[in-house]
Amino acid sequence: MKPEKFYHDAKTVAKFISIYCDDKHKDKKEKRSYALKYDNQNFCPITLNLCDVCHETLKYSLERLQNCPHEDKPSCRKCPKPCYDKPEWKLLARIMRHSGMKLGLLKLRSMIKRA
Ligand SMILES: [Zn+2]
Repeated sequence: MKPEKFYHDAKTVAKFISIYCDDKHKDKKEKRSYALKYDNQNFCPITLNLCDVCHETLKYSLERLQNCPHEDKPSCRKCPKPCYDKPEWKLLARIMRHSGMKLGLLKLRSMIKRA
């Protein structure tokens, strides 16, 4: 995939995990920076407050994304060769569902306000 695509997807997964963590995990968060590197290109790092579990999840996802072999990356959900292990896959599906729904609602609310 193109480095721009990597950066976009990395930011998306980070955003989704951070929304999920804010909603579900109230305790013991730590501020950390995540370096983003792809194809010898360095991107602006992401800084997030996450609990330990979500920190590991994000690290795992970023590693997978960095090693994604697809030239034209499909959406992970439709990937013919998913690189996630089962438990991580399930967890991430839950995170994406939760945060996706929440982002959808926020968008809807701002649309209603504008109308
Ligand atoms: Zn968390």
